[in-house]
Amino acid sequence: MKVIVIGGGPAGMMAAITAAQSGCDVTLIEKNEKLGKKMFISGKGRCNFTNDCEVEEFFANVVSNKKFLYGSLYSFTPYDTMRFFDENGLKFKTERGNRVFPLSDKSSDVIRTLENKLRSLKVAIRLNERVSSLIVFDGACHGVKTEFGEYRADKVIIACGGVSYRLTGACGDGYKLAQSVGHVVVQPVPALAPIDTVYGYRRLAGLSLKNVVFKVLCNGKPIFEEFGEMLFTHEGVSGPIVLSASSKINRYPIESLSAFIDFKPALDKQQLDKRILRDFTENPSKQVRNSFDKLLPLRMIDEFLNKLSIDKYKSVSELSREERLKIVDIMKDFPLDKLKFSSIDKAIVTAGGVNVKEVDPSTMQSKLCKNLYFAGEVLDVDALTGGFNIQIAFSTGVAAGKVN
Ligand SMILES: Cc1cc2nc3c(=O)[nH]c(=O)nc-3n(C[C@H](O)[C@H](O)[C@H](O)COP(=O)(O)OP(=O)(O)OC[C@H]3O[C@@H](n4cnc5c(N)ncnc54)[C@H](O)[C@@H]3O)c2cc1C
Repeated sequence: MKVIVIGGGPAGMMAAITAAQSGCDVTLIEKNEKLGKKMFISGKGRCNFTNDCEVEEFFANVVSNKKFLYGSLYSFTPYDTMRFFDENGLKFKTERGNRVFPLSDKSSDVIRTLENKLRSLKVAIRLNERVSSLIVFDGACHGVKTEFGEYRADKVIIACGGVSYRLTGACGDGYKLAQSVGHVVVQPVPALAPIDTVYGYRRLAGLSLKNVVFKVLCNGKPIFEEFGEMLFTHEGVSGPIVLSASSKINRYPIESLSAFIDFKPALDKQQLDKRILRDFTENPSKQVRNSFDKLLPLRMIDEFLNKLSIDKYKSVSELSREERLKIVDIMKDFPLDKLKFSSIDKAIVTAGGVNVKEVDPSTMQSKLCKNLYFAGEVLDVDALTGGFNIQIAFSTGVAAGKVN
């Protein structure tokens, strides 16, 4: 059987390996000059390629279309991924949060392991070649066209990725190919992305916050709340809890959203006020701006006092009770300016993509066009950080590459 795989990311490479292991004659077509360009930059260049957890725990980290992924993830689990790399000579380690990385901390070692396997299985790798269309007749896909010619095949797997970090090759071609045979593409939106605000936070840019709670409300109702680390950027906010929030809020109308930071989640307002009063009593002549140094960074205090129009140079003994309570309020509920979704190009993952209702969850076969399959981020699936997205690419890649 002749198989064409479009896209040399983790999904396409794993699909090609699986098909070749079943004895197929496989050609992998990649438009870049090398394989796995997005994988290369993944995990800050270290490639967190899976998460060493049970499948149930895995699903708690999947944001879109968990049920669709049940079949492929139970058939090829994180444990299978680790066994695959172990058998193929990659040494790896598990870090905080069960994140699995190559022992060398080099993503290139993960890509090299996959590439060596492809070559040992005699997969034909065509680099610098872009698939422009599918060859479709009689309700089935019979191959692909590239700028250099035609490739006939009995099975075609689309593994072109999403639309974020375009420089890595993900440019939405997979969506166009799917749409050309009638598939619906769910609107792509940024996931695991920074959240921008209309005016940005130039004055606070680079300031990182630990042990805070980030909350997002939709028309006043809480839709996201998480404790952890975040930071201010020129455009808005970013960091681990903000990235997670972005994946959970990206389908809400932006104008209905508001976000707040609780800088002291361990204390309620009364306890925080008592704590501040105690500090003030110890140093009554200290300037207001210098009286919170045990609680918060100075830059943040300046921001609060500016927002509340409180004279930061007066002494704490001159601060009224009302002003002090306003400071407590803002520390517990610091409102971000009007939110904006960041550009999708800055998203670690694209949410949205080929509608999974039109794809068989156990084989990844199109329900609309025979011989056509999908794998990886081109599908409307996405997960949180921790190695889950690359594992999804592997699991759906294996499912698509299998010959039934
Ligand atoms: C900065 C960053 C860090 C990340 N870190 C992690 C991490 O540590 N762990 C994790 O699990 N996930 C991480 N991700 C997400 C993860 O990299 C992706 O989810 C994963 O690469 C998706 O795999 P894929 O094979 O579906 O698509 P891609 O990796 O995007 O591969 C698709 C390939 O298809 C090719 N292609 C597209 N169109 C065509 C065409 N017409 N013809 C031929 N080829 C084509 C592209 O050039 C590309 O090489 C990160 C993402 C980014 C951007």
